Amino acid sequence: MKYVSTRSDKYKVESAEAIKTGIAPDGGLFVPEEIPQLSLDEIEKFANLSYPELAKKILSLYLTDYTEEELSDCVNSAYTSEKFESEAIAPLHKLDDKAFVLELWHGPTCAFKDMALQILPHFLVKAIKKTGEDRDVIILVATSGDTGKAALEGFKDVKNTKIQVFYPVSGVSKIQKLQMATQDGSNVSVISVDGNFDDAQTGVKKIFGNADYAKEASDLGYVFSSANSINWGRLVPQIVYYFYSYASLVKTGEIKCGDKINIVVPTGNFGNILAAYYAKEMGLFVDKLICASNQNNVLTDFIKTGVYDKNRKFETTISPSMDILISSNLERLLFHMSGKNFNLVKEYMASLAASGKYSVDKEIFDSISSVFCAGYCDDAQTKQTIKETYEKYGYTIDTHTAVAKNVYDKYEKDTSDGKKTVIASTANPYKFNKAVLEAICEDAIPDGEFELIDLLHEKSGLNVPKSLAGLKNKFIRFNTTCGKDNLWSETKKFLTK
Ligand SMILES: *Cc1c(COP(=O)(O)O)cnc(C)c1O
Repeated sequence: MKYVSTRSDKYKVESAEAIKTGIAPDGGLFVPEEIPQLSLDEIEKFANLSYPELAKKILSLYLTDYTEEELSDCVNSAYTSEKFESEAIAPLHKLDDKAFVLELWHGPTCAFKDMALQILPHFLVKAIKKTGEDRDVIILVATSGDTGKAALEGFKDVKNTKIQVFYPVSGVSKIQKLQMATQDGSNVSVISVDGNFDDAQTGVKKIFGNADYAKEASDLGYVFSSANSINWGRLVPQIVYYFYSYASLVKTGEIKCGDKINIVVPTGNFGNILAAYYAKEMGLFVDKLICASNQNNVLTDFIKTGVYDKNRKFETTISPSMDILISSNLERLLFHMSGKNFNLVKEYMASLAASGKYSVDKEIFDSISSVFCAGYCDDAQTKQTIKETYEKYGYTIDTHTAVAKNVYDKYEKDTSDGKKTVIASTANPYKFNKAVLEAICEDAIPDGEFELIDLLHEKSGLNVPKSLAGLKNKFIRFNTTCGKDNLWSETKKFLTK
């Protein structure tokens, strides 16, 4: 299997190269040249597999330049029941006869990013070796919260790597700050930046774009890399859990193999729902993919009209991981939906860069409409949905999952579709405990993080995740703040250490 760019036909690379470089040299994203196909018989057999076994099967179809042993190593290091506090890794929770919640948040940082970031470091280390690189990798991340912590947990103590995370000093929640400041591992560094998220991100981009810094790092034995969400190595592991959720429905007798289901995904950068699209294109029996957004509803408008327009107010919501106006992974969908028309994709992306806007051809719009539906809701509706789900099912969901549930309810009301539906649940409710408690709790809400955790435990009956419970007693290991123009000196210090 070879990978090509979404913006030209100049590059054709193996998956290891795509994972190592992250982005194609022409600025496009790497996509598989052909989407592998699975038959009904093959899919039916998935019902007997554990999560790691299924992961090996799916990954081996895409990462064809990795040996079976290499993939086994990667999977077995990533998806363990210790790290995921769950035998199933991604359990499916039945709400009623139609709706099933796919819990993707049992990993070490309590958000679905763990599903990919626990395995990406292992892909990357092997990719580096396979492409003949003898330097170690230095991963630099600018984060507004979730990604930084998930990347730290993924890379900690992974041989031949170092990771340094920069976060805005007053731009992350208290619990996120604690999670990062107490990070363990022998190869990690966490620095707060005196500025906002944009300052941190600009600072990191400046390092990546500076040839002198790359040379200095190289002299110290390091090559830069990133773990950001457009890397193919982050997308491909996400395909696995859609097959897994289908297999769980077959196994429990909810459906017969071959019956169609719908999938709803709370969407930001369009990575998670794109993985569901790949699963469908591979032959998984999926009818509609329902894209759920919060008040930053660029994608809802795009899917309904064919016009992508990011020229609108950025809204800060209680589902912050979906506060995004440019959904980078949409570029991959455009490539596939246009029949691999890279010239057209390039045109759309140029228009997006120049005017913040593009509109797709009727044919592409029709193809998208035949697969995707979309909807959105605001913060008040999000809280209302958390409350209703709690009261009706005794089940507590986080704010992101609630957006998906809300959009699903509207879809069912409008269409009376009735198909069994998998709702992707992207965060543990403990991670957004304040908003969740405001939705389900009549009484006054306490201020302190640990009081919030205790109260949510009392109300929801959910086990407090070990990683959050343990924070209280952890030693603050990182408390350096740097100026927004001084990121490189921190990186250099870290590399010479
Ligand atoms: C990142 C994230 C999302 C959005 O996922 P995309 O792949 O960017 O669409 C949704 N919910 C949570 C909790 C997240 O962390």
